[in-house]
Amino acid sequence: MGAAYNNGMREEYTQDQITTGEWVRQLANTSWRGWNAFYHTTRWQAKRKDILRRDRKQCRMCRDKGRYTPATTVHHLKHLREYPELALTDDNLISLCSECHEIVHPEKHQCKGFMNEERW
Ligand SMILES: [Zn+2]
Ligand SMILES: [Zn+2]
Repeated sequence: MGAAYNNGMREEYTQDQITTGEWVRQLANTSWRGWNAFYHTTRWQAKRKDILRRDRKQCRMCRDKGRYTPATTVHHLKHLREYPELALTDDNLISLCSECHEIVHPEKHQCKGFMNEERW
């Protein structure tokens, strides 16, 4: 019975695994979703809401240019794969509209799936 739980939805990690980002890596390695599995965790969903609230649901890059655009995405300034230890660090997260998100991800055009997941 117990083994059935090992499906990537399990979110019990040690404090150590969380601070080192090891839990994100482990999740990516064990889930069929790979790195996208992170975006489906309740931990990320809660953090994402926090960041949108912090940025008043406005795109930060547009705001820097004096424009007000609703944010649709919370972006990792240092990418998740290279810095999983910063996965949930406020300073590494920024609310963006989809247009600005395209600008910061020139690799998007080769990898649409990744982008769609980060939006959620
Ligand atoms: Zn924008
Ligand atoms: Zn991004």
